[in-house]
Amino acid sequence: MKKPRVLIVEDESSIAELIAVNLRHNGFDPIWAEDGEAAQREIETLVPDLILLDWMLPGQSGLVLARQWRKEARTKAIPILMLTARGDEPDKIAGLDAGADDYITKPFSTQEMLARIRAVLRRRAPETTTERVEIGELALDAATHRVTWQGTPLKVGPTEFKLLAHLMRHAERVHSRAQLLDKVWGDHVYIEERTVDVHVKRLRESLGAASSMIETVRGAGYRLTAQATV
Ligand code: CA
Repeated sequence: MKKPRVLIVEDESSIAELIAVNLRHNGFDPIWAEDGEAAQREIETLVPDLILLDWMLPGQSGLVLARQWRKEARTKAIPILMLTARGDEPDKIAGLDAGADDYITKPFSTQEMLARIRAVLRRRAPETTTERVEIGELALDAATHRVTWQGTPLKVGPTEFKLLAHLMRHAERVHSRAQLLDKVWGDHVYIEERTVDVHVKRLRESLGAASSMIETVRGAGYRLTAQATV
């Protein structure tokens, strides 16, 4: 399973390094940017799963960056955790107002940082967790990246896996193509809605006998249901 990519925007290299080491040891893929410009370049290369954003940065402040990223299509869904100095209450509130999901006060413990990161990822991107979901006789295990039907393993491609995971976690609910693009693809500014149809078709092929669990809801989108007769 893909490690969550965490972009650390922090000008103090000793702090950034400490955070990066701890993240790497705990199953994350950290990248370091020392200011807003470097962070922007990283984001343009590959959208991270989460941004750890220092408040005090040379050039644009963390607050300005958070506001800017919340406005842009490419970055608006990325969870942002702000790093602030101890006791800066107005800063924290302003940070949350600017669109940060949470904040951590420096100095912080590794355990606290990891707990906050995991909480934010769970809230914002349930697809990156490692849980197991069962709907009827269809089971998906995010930790081992396995899908089984009546106990028999099925071969499912990476995008189809993410799509199935999302549909299973929100079973019986209708999802529009736009919603699926948003939740499953995330960084989808250049992806057309019919891409969803292509992957749903592939997913149904992978599911074989269980394929009828994925229903097309005319004019609305798709739904995974346990009610289907299979
Ligand atoms: Ca700083």
